[in-house]
Amino acid sequence: MLARRGHRWQAGRSKDDWRAELRATVRDLPGLCRLLDLDPRLAAAGAAAAERYTLRVPKAWLDLIERGNPEDPLLLQILPTEEEMQRSPGFTQDPVGDQSAQVTPCLLNKYSGRALLLVTGSCPVHCRYCFRRWFPFVAGLNHRLNAAQAIGQLARRSDVTEVILSGGDPLLLNDHSLQTLLTALDGLPHLKRVRIHSRIPITLPRRIDARLCRILREGRKPRVLVVQTNHPSELGEEALAALARLQANGVRLLNQSVLLRGINDDAIVLHRLSEQLFEAGVMPYYLHQLDRVLGSAHFEVPPEVCAQIDSKLRATLPGYLVPRLVVEKPGAPGKIAFDQAGQGPCLLD
Ligand SMILES: *Cc1c(COP(=O)(O)O)cnc(C)c1O
Ligand code: SF4
Repeated sequence: MLARRGHRWQAGRSKDDWRAELRATVRDLPGLCRLLDLDPRLAAAGAAAAERYTLRVPKAWLDLIERGNPEDPLLLQILPTEEEMQRSPGFTQDPVGDQSAQVTPCLLNKYSGRALLLVTGSCPVHCRYCFRRWFPFVAGLNHRLNAAQAIGQLARRSDVTEVILSGGDPLLLNDHSLQTLLTALDGLPHLKRVRIHSRIPITLPRRIDARLCRILREGRKPRVLVVQTNHPSELGEEALAALARLQANGVRLLNQSVLLRGINDDAIVLHRLSEQLFEAGVMPYYLHQLDRVLGSAHFEVPPEVCAQIDSKLRATLPGYLVPRLVVEKPGAPGKIAFDQAGQGPCLLD
């Protein structure tokens, strides 16, 4: 009797494991402070910010945070704080011009040769500096009609050679929707690759299960996955295993990081990150200057410090492990390299 019950539980667990983990994300700030042995005054201080953009943190992420440490680099990425409520000049709700690039509700035309498909507004983690934290996703994303409309547009766009699935986190789509979408994209002759921008190997590593791996492996076009890792502590055992599964199934892996004050604004930390990413089969790609989204000014790293970090990384790492320090400018057809000639600030006007 006992054995049978145990067996049933096991079977259910392996099938929909990641969904249970997704449902169990922590969304209550006092609860988070209790779980992590943090001063309850932090909860009071962050209450208004959490009201404006909710706290959301999955267990895999929580497990990597050091208990009782208010400065933990993973905690600082997800903890709502009073500082978010400050207004700062130049920080806006749509810092990278997403809304003016909308062709259909989920298709953005921003970069030459590439199209962005925002396939869902949800994400298992809410990064406090997320540049899409104000994006009006609720206007009916994540349904078949929008996807079909976007595919119809893409079929007429022979200039587009790469589609980037973005969001939210695109790997929150269920297997069926994802497979349908990828099959439709595979059918567009002018597309050379499909790229997925997802933090899920880190935030919800169980999502990278056998069925998802099969869907990715069986696609006709090369799959590239760009993960976001900002600090070496994010590369825990589960995340490393998820990345290894993706790699074993033919997915090419790149990483982007955002330079964040008090979290990774340190060449030694980023040097370690590049080395550990390489060990995990992930090539460092971009190091982004913060997009100036409303509520994130306290994360911004001054341009002189960005330049110093960049020089130190170039001096201490092989060139292929140095992520490119870049800035996103609304209306530009691609990323702009951070100006080594010392004109950093003018890129941020
Ligand atoms: C830069 C950027 C892209 C396009 O990436 P490339 O690698 O430059 O083609 C897509 N999505 C977001 C959010 C970006 O910032
Ligand atoms: S993982 Fe990406 S989409 Fe999700 S909240 Fe963070 S920055 Fe935004």
